Amino acid sequence: MTNLEGNPEVIDCESHEVSAEVIKPRSVKLTTRTGIRVDRLLPSSTIRLIGPWCFLDHFLPQDEDEIMSVASHPHTGLQTVTWLFSGEVHHHDSLGSDQRIHPGELNLMTAGRGISHSEISSKAKTPLHGAQLWIALDDKTRKIEPRFTHYSDLPKVTSTHYEAKILAGQIFGIKSQAEIFSPLVAAELTLLTDKAADVELNAEFEYGFMAINSKIKVANQLLDVGELYYQPRGANSIKINGSVDSKVLMIGGEPFNEDIVMWWNFVGRSHEEIEEMRSLWETKSEIFGVVHDELNERIPAPIMPNIKLKPRSNKKLG
Ligand code: MN
Repeated sequence: MTNLEGNPEVIDCESHEVSAEVIKPRSVKLTTRTGIRVDRLLPSSTIRLIGPWCFLDHFLPQDEDEIMSVASHPHTGLQTVTWLFSGEVHHHDSLGSDQRIHPGELNLMTAGRGISHSEISSKAKTPLHGAQLWIALDDKTRKIEPRFTHYSDLPKVTSTHYEAKILAGQIFGIKSQAEIFSPLVAAELTLLTDKAADVELNAEFEYGFMAINSKIKVANQLLDVGELYYQPRGANSIKINGSVDSKVLMIGGEPFNEDIVMWWNFVGRSHEEIEEMRSLWETKSEIFGVVHDELNERIPAPIMPNIKLKPRSNKKLG
């Protein structure tokens, strides 16, 4: 649901040393989402992807009468992960899925070659607080048949000072059933004590840790609610401190080594490919199907920018 923010051209610094940093949220105005405030963490001005995670929006707790209402729109080349901390969202897609999602459950939609969906939060179940993430699919899998799965029974593991609900990937050898296509992990961590939790990491992965409901310290860096700590690969563990019941969204994965073009709701490999996807949506191509929901609307694609979209690597920008 990116609108046209026109990411300014940035020069990639090839030799930039990748280091840890805190990514501050930026508020985004979404023409395609109504009534709610959304903060964007990824892509940021310095970090484009964390593993294959190429997009992270945080929907902040809303007033009672504000709902999220996003009419039918397309996706390609990615998986969407919807994860709630409170509230309820009703998902419909062009495969005929009709699924309500609640906190602790995972909606995983694999767009592959093309899908469309709509998302409406339920007025009766407020406030809405959650995250939507996108996983870039690698070149081998990005054109697979679209699919949608709701996971209501995700595994939980407990360690000293914290527990982890595993959305995707594995922790301590316990694996989420969520269907993924590259080495990655996502979990909701809850601190069980106010002692420093030593969270075990995979040194092959880079990671992001977002403070969800209270200030926390990650590797001694103070994070405000909604801030994301970036940890480059190479660490075997990380210390997280906070008050009891602090929640942390953890994402990670092996650095994504393909250059991608991300525009609006599409992940592709070239400007021309994105142009084609846009045109297929605008001409109501059957590859995106039709969503049957109570909104009965579709969101038109924005106009493409005047510049040629360039494939971007996951390199940290300096
Ligand atoms: Mn979407």
